[in-house]
Amino acid sequence: TSLFETVELAPRDPILGLNEQYNADERSGKVNLGVGVYYDDQGRIPILQAVQKAEEAMMSKAAARSYLPIEGINTYNLGAQTLLLGADSPIIAEGRALTVQSLGGTGALKIGADFLQQLLPQSEVYISDPSWENHRALFERAGFKVNTYAYYDAATHGLNFDGMIASLRTMPAQSIVVLHACCHNPTGVDPSMEQWTQIAELIKERQLVPFLDIAYQGFGAGLEEDASVVRLFAKLGLSMFISSSFSKSFSLYGERVGALTLVTSSKDETSRVLSQVKRVIRTNYSNPPTHGGKVVATVLNSPELFQTWATELAGMRDRIREMRAQLVAKLKEHGATQNFDFVLEQRGMFSYSGLTAEQVERLRQEHGIYAVSSGRICVAALNSQNIDVVAKAIAQVLK
Ligand code: PMP
Repeated sequence: TSLFETVELAPRDPILGLNEQYNADERSGKVNLGVGVYYDDQGRIPILQAVQKAEEAMMSKAAARSYLPIEGINTYNLGAQTLLLGADSPIIAEGRALTVQSLGGTGALKIGADFLQQLLPQSEVYISDPSWENHRALFERAGFKVNTYAYYDAATHGLNFDGMIASLRTMPAQSIVVLHACCHNPTGVDPSMEQWTQIAELIKERQLVPFLDIAYQGFGAGLEEDASVVRLFAKLGLSMFISSSFSKSFSLYGERVGALTLVTSSKDETSRVLSQVKRVIRTNYSNPPTHGGKVVATVLNSPELFQTWATELAGMRDRIREMRAQLVAKLKEHGATQNFDFVLEQRGMFSYSGLTAEQVERLRQEHGIYAVSSGRICVAALNSQNIDVVAKAIAQVLK
């Protein structure tokens, strides 16, 4: 018999499956809102000026591709850490933070999860209901039982804050709480700063372990503004895990540029923890790749390129906001009677549109418009050419 005879076919990734269906669709006006990628107004994945300039500078002085240190490029790590905690962070000054380069935000979550499994094997993990679909699988694969906490309220298209607080109150001490620090995926619904303050204080009071996931810094209100939640938790003196990603903010999806940052309570703790995190990395993939990390490090450490990048990122953020506004206006124009103002309040690339699975299916069949069956649409895939068609189609399936 064959070694693999009993291996069962794993379920398809729902979003990648949707892309395959979209690619096979021969209709000319088709639109893919199922993706998790930022497209520009021409419907292309942008190549940022800041990235191109950094690459030109790198090309002009060819460097040997030796192994990077296990933790990656030092200037990359410091740059990522500073973006999260702030240039004037006392935590950085006191040596209470460590950052390692990771294979995207996913890699940061994985290294963090593996280290947590070593540190708190008895703990359970809590993710928002709903959450990025890989959170559950990733923490389960690392050996944890994964539960959910109340988050989204379909009736108000907003946050179920009371439910979230009630969930936090049921968790035993040392439970691991995965939180989206800004631009919640998939809903686009974030707590207000007042609500975050209550959440953070409760997490501290109940001795829970925060794992902040921030994959869209710069897509909400701004680079600094979007780090407010991280800084709030830091200020309360909480030890925590932070997974961050430059995939979207640098439009460098395939380069796998992310970082895992841990905040500890002393410099001595930092060095011990770093030595253990390095062991986790060493036994996973040894050390990270060079190219993407170098590009990001070059941009973050050059005042001029940083400014170019920040401006380009602001452009992406503003375009998404503009698409939210146009979508709401055009839905009205095309006769939708429902109130879609909640779309303006949501942040980041995604919107939970409130469309049902049947309406999403009709969008696909009747209009060639693809969205996730949960009703999640990628606002960053809307543009001046497709917005009218999309709004009209949504208005039709809502009738
Ligand atoms: N966390 C969240 C909430 C995400 O949406 C994503 C990416 N879609 C990630 C983590 C992973 O980021 P990366 O693509 O850099 O691995």
